[in-house]
Amino acid sequence: MIDLSSNGREAAGTESNLQAVHPRPFSRRSFLVKTSCFGTFYAVAKLTPLPTLAAELASDSRVSQTPILDKGFASVRKIGNGLYATISDLSKGNTTICNGGFLAGKDGALLIEGFTTAAGAAFQMDALRMVSQVPVKGALDTHYHFDHSMGNSFYGANGVQLWAHATAAKRIVENYAPLQGADKEAALGPFEKRVKDAKSDAERQHAQSDLNAMTGIFQIANATVLGLPNHPLDPAKLPMPLDLGGLTAVIESYPGHSGTDMIVRVPDQNVVYTGDLLFSSWYPVCFDEKATISGWRDTLKKVAAFDKDTLFVPGHGQICGQEGIASIREVFDDIAGQAEKMYKAGVPVEEAQHRYVVPEKFKNFPIFAWGFTIGPAITKLYAEWQGK
Ligand SMILES: [Zn+2]
Repeated sequence: MIDLSSNGREAAGTESNLQAVHPRPFSRRSFLVKTSCFGTFYAVAKLTPLPTLAAELASDSRVSQTPILDKGFASVRKIGNGLYATISDLSKGNTTICNGGFLAGKDGALLIEGFTTAAGAAFQMDALRMVSQVPVKGALDTHYHFDHSMGNSFYGANGVQLWAHATAAKRIVENYAPLQGADKEAALGPFEKRVKDAKSDAERQHAQSDLNAMTGIFQIANATVLGLPNHPLDPAKLPMPLDLGGLTAVIESYPGHSGTDMIVRVPDQNVVYTGDLLFSSWYPVCFDEKATISGWRDTLKKVAAFDKDTLFVPGHGQICGQEGIASIREVFDDIAGQAEKMYKAGVPVEEAQHRYVVPEKFKNFPIFAWGFTIGPAITKLYAEWQGK
């Protein structure tokens, strides 16, 4: 996920979110000293207490009011017949970080996501075993990013087939293996330099948010025994129906977030596990070299045409209905609208990526880090307009 050479230079980072977490300025040294393993993720986390279920979902007969298992960092709730959602709450821990879930039919089960740690994947398996003893047909990483795949070794150790996009294994190796055993100063140096060289307060805060995120990723990659998907799914052969016994799911692939994105649809019940193609009331993470803003917006347009009663389990944020799709489309419209004005006014991209202003209605949407979300969205839009 992290291309140190290019992302570190061109992506740039934020503002108000960092201020809220670290009200006083801090030196790099004190930051690194005080940061325990995964500690930086609490920076994001404190900003993102999980919103409660929307009122309309609280009254949705598919959605159980009480989780079957709740460990704080994540809870598992029934959302349909044989369908469960695992929803992470970053304000209470980072064992899982992303959302996931599982499907359990009469003959087999499918687990969704490897999460950030093996303990996170084990937690979800425990929840499955509370409701069903059917054999597990597979576990699916919806894409290769660390927060969805660093717990994969749990599946390897338990003989569970690990499914993912055909290029996911390669991209896990390319992006995370180089961080393992790497010199921390060398790996984070370019990010620290951007903080030091920042030309404005906004730029400095953006750069600092990127350094925080990258520090967390570095720590997680170094704490992880990588587990690679052994059951590659060729996107050319999708959609793929999956019969679990009285429960049929369909695995599909769409462009947008990472170049490896898969969703799991359960058409009979209008339930969709979207992976990170949907950030629910979060700013979308767009930094991936294979992320495409126009492709992603097209994907969301298609998803908006799914049944109006569709229930979505997003990659991050709370379970939602079609209003969640409408909302992330509005966020993209807003970023594109502000970027286009700057593009037409001749604002250079280096400046434009820092100038975006979070509008009032999205001010509570977490920003993972500026240079992983808004910055690269603007850079990629500029490149699309320039025909690059
Ligand atoms: Zn992702």
